[in-house]
Parts: sequence; structure tokens; C-alpha cells
Amino acid sequence: MADRMLQFVRLPQEQPEKRAVAERRADFAEIYRSFAAQEAAHQSSRCSQCGVPFCSVHCPLGNDIPDWLKLTAEGRLEEAYEISAATNNFPEICGRICPQDRLCEGNCVIEKGYEAVTIGAVERFLTDTAFAEGWVRVRRPARERGLSVGIIGAGPAGLSAAEELRALGYAVDVYDRYDRIGGLLIYGIPNFKLEKEIVFRRAAQLTEQGVRFHLNCEIGRDLPFDELRRRHAAVLIATGVYQARDLTAPGAGLPGIVPALDYLIASNRNGLGDVVPAFDSGLLNAQNKRVVVVGGGDTAMDCVRTAVRQGARSVKCLYRRDRANMPGSMREVKNAEEEGVEFLWLSAPKGFSGTPSLQTVHAARMRLGLPDASGRQSVEPADAPSFRLDADLVIKALGFDPEDLPLQFVTLDLAVTRWGTLRIHHRSFMTHLPGVFAAGDIVRGASLVVWAIRDGRDAAAGIHAYLEQETARIAVAAE
Ligand code: FAD
Ligand code: SF4
Ligand code: SF4
Repeated sequence: MADRMLQFVRLPQEQPEKRAVAERRADFAEIYRSFAAQEAAHQSSRCSQCGVPFCSVHCPLGNDIPDWLKLTAEGRLEEAYEISAATNNFPEICGRICPQDRLCEGNCVIEKGYEAVTIGAVERFLTDTAFAEGWVRVRRPARERGLSVGIIGAGPAGLSAAEELRALGYAVDVYDRYDRIGGLLIYGIPNFKLEKEIVFRRAAQLTEQGVRFHLNCEIGRDLPFDELRRRHAAVLIATGVYQARDLTAPGAGLPGIVPALDYLIASNRNGLGDVVPAFDSGLLNAQNKRVVVVGGGDTAMDCVRTAVRQGARSVKCLYRRDRANMPGSMREVKNAEEEGVEFLWLSAPKGFSGTPSLQTVHAARMRLGLPDASGRQSVEPADAPSFRLDADLVIKALGFDPEDLPLQFVTLDLAVTRWGTLRIHHRSFMTHLPGVFAAGDIVRGASLVVWAIRDGRDAAAGIHAYLEQETARIAVAAE
């Protein structure tokens, strides 16, 4: 091993090449090129094969990272892929959009002074190669169990659970109110981070596996929840969170101030070739506009970078904390800066004005105070003059809360936490209702794709254990 691994002392870190900024600004294609096989092998060989791999500890899926890095360095790519796929349903998606700087790579313990192993880029390379080589096989069940599971929500939590349950031999029906499979992977996350073809490829695989999708079907409106419980031996709720936090400053209701997700969904739909009247009318389109995005998370970064690509006259991001305290991935902030976005740190809107629609954002200077109970520095108005920004479009990207549960769900008296998320048993993933499970953002609050996959896998294991138990109980009762 010694001659092949531990090369971090000799080889510098290299991320996959990024496309030129001018090219990136002009289209919605992914900005990173893929590693070539030799680059992937070289970068993998930088790993020092830690006895306690902190990279894996900080990967929500507990991926066996050192093992697949070593195999990649040795050119044993199919084996490396098999190991990476054993713990992750969608490694090519995580390799592209996990905030690695906060997870695996941020905890890579290569000696001080050397930069982390490029784990995400290798993970993406492995699965893209596996698809190209035909190594990604549909996980067909060895036998049918004669029981079915209904899943509400075709986002990453619902899809990972669906794949696991189908592989175990359950009939799986996934219901989604949208017309495409993927949840926020399709309608939230922009193409320049994750091209839609990557998600369509997985959707096709799941369909081939035998998972049945019922699209344009909103549970609680088109189909009562009780009906689902009658149809299926178990039900998984994986509906995500969609209720945007709102601005309360005076003038926040002016035309020209829009929620981030409406804006991103319109852009994604337009990119997919759908007719989007609010995009065509300019309401949800940044072209030729002076755009101000309020917020500092990943959604805000997606909005500023989308606005750049739509041909905005200027794009500014207003964030009340400083750069070091941004919740979003630093990699995305850097990408946004390269693409021409201006960041106004320690600034918050205190009002909006304009007739008949938005013309000016009035902003206050902020300063950081003492850390709160969570250890994060609080933020308060600074003793400094406020300032104004000319704007035609303000995009509110302040985060998400769980939506009001649809009526049919509410009547079931599902227990919720004080944050409005669904309460589940932390091991079984079952709610208060027998046979009803929940996973993903609807349980965690707005989180990450990798956590949704983890939850989907764990919920599938919980459902399997429950159905095995129920089957055994019914068999005993019948004796
Ligand atoms: P979702 O992906 O939200 O899927 C839920 C599905 O349930 C949806 O398809 C919805 O239509 C459906 N649904 C809801 N209610 C019903 C109903 N009553 N009946 C039928 N169907 C219903 N995470 C990352 O890791 N990296 C990123 O770069 C990243 N970028 C993001 C960018 C944006 C703009 C946003 C909003 C989020 C981003 N995230 C990112 C977070 C990530 O997308 C979510 O954490 C993840 O998608 C949650 O998965 P989920 O399956 O729980 O929910
Ligand atoms: Fe890193 Fe995400 Fe891959 Fe885990 S799933 S190894 S956190 S990129
Ligand atoms: Fe390799 Fe870094 Fe993980 Fe250690 S922490 S095993 S060096 S990738």
C-alpha cells in the first residue's frame, strides 16, 4: 500500500476542472468537468488510509471511503464502485451536491498543511464510470413477498426507501403531487449543480426495478390518506418541507418580492421545456433586472447563480451575518463570487418601497453579538447608518418550515414536534400510527439530500422489521 497510497506529501489536491466563468454564466450546464481515470487514481492515492477515518464518521451514510479510494488508486474501479454503492443509493448525486466541505472532506485528517482528499469528485467519477460501463445493475428482488408499501413523496428520501423495499421483495407504489420523479432534485436544485439527466437515469432504473409511480397525485387532495392505508401494509410519508419563511419588514408584500422556491421551480421548469406563464411574463425571471437575494444558505446561492444565468443586470446577496458564519457551502459562495455576484455581509433588509412595484430595498447594518445556546453568534443591529439598494426583483431565501399538514393527514392526529416536523420513533422511523412511517425533511426540517437518503434507507429497514413482525404475528394468530 505504502507505494500507492499516502501520496498527499507529493501530490497536491486537485478538484475537477471548472468551466470558464464566461461559459458558465451563459448556460445552465454543470460547472465541474469529470475526473479522467488517471486524475481519479492520483487524487485517491493521496489518502493516508486512517485507522479511524473521520471522513466516514462525518459522512451521514457512513460510506467506506478509505476502501473505495484505495481500490480507485489501484485501478480496480468496478470493486470500488460496488463498495461505494453498498451504502449509498445515489452516489453520483451526493458526489455532485453534498456540501463536502462541511462533511467528509471537511473532516479529512491528512496532515496539517495538506488539503483534503477530493472524496466527492472521486465518488461521482466512480458511479458515472459504472453507468458508462454497465456495472450499475437494477436490484431485482429474489422473491415477491405479497405485501405492498405506499410511499408519499418521490424525493431522495422516498426514492431511496423505494429502492431498498423493492429489492427486499415488497410491491412499492410511490405517490407524488408533481409530474416528475425526484422532488427537490428536479424542481429545487438547479441544473448547474445537478443535471436533470442524472435524476431521470435513476428514475428509469427504479421503474425498471418494478417501483410503480403515481404522479400528479396529491395525497390529502386527490387521494385520501386513509385510502392509502387501506391499499398498503405500510405507508411512508416523505413529503419534504416547502413552507418558506417570510420577510416581515414594511413593504414586504410589494410586487417584485418573490419566494426562492417559486423562483427556482419556474427556472427549472423553463429549463425542462415546460410552459411557465410566470416566467414568460417576467414575474419569476431575472432577465435585465437588478436582483437582491436575501439569505445566506444553499438556496440563496442557487438563486443568485440562477439570476446570473438568466441575464440579470446585477445580482447582490444580502446576508445578516458575515462570511465565516454563512450556513451555505463555502464552495458555492466562491462559485457565486467568480460568476459576478456581490455579497453584502452583515446587512439585513428593514423595508421595501416602490410604486406600483418594488424599486428600493432599505437595508440596515448588522453586527455579531455573543454566542447563543447553540454556540452560534447572535446578530443585532449595528450603530451604523442604513443604506439603500435599487432593485427590481427581491428573492426571499430565508429557509423553510414544514408545511401545514394536508387536511387528511391532520385528521389522523399525527404527532408533531415543536418545530412542526413529524414525530417518529428514532429507531423504527414509525409515527404514532401503527404502520405509518416518516423520513427525510418532513422529519428533520430542511436538511440535505444525503440525510434524506440515509433516512429513506433507515425507514425502509424499519418498515421491513415491522412487516416481518406483523406477518409472524398474523401467522401465530391463525394457528
Ligand atoms: P423532497 O425532495 O422535498 O421531496 C418531497 C416530495 O414529496 C416532493 O416531490 C413533493 O412533491 C412530494 N409531496 C409533498 N407533499 C405531497 C403530498 N401531499 N402528496 C404527494 N406528494 C407530496 N441538499 C444538498 O444535499 N445539496 C444541495 O446542494 C442542496 N441544494 C438545495 C437547493 C434548494 C433550492 C433546496 C430547496 C434544497 C436543497 N437541498 C440541497 C436540500 C435537499 O434538496 C433536501 O434536503 C432533500 O431534497 C429532502 O428530501 P425529501 O425526500 O425529504 O424531500
Ligand atoms: Fe461525502 Fe456526501 Fe459522499 Fe458521504 S455521501 S462521502 S458526505 S460526498
Ligand atoms: Fe483518507 Fe482523509 Fe479519510 Fe483519512 S480522513 S481515510 S486521509 S480520506
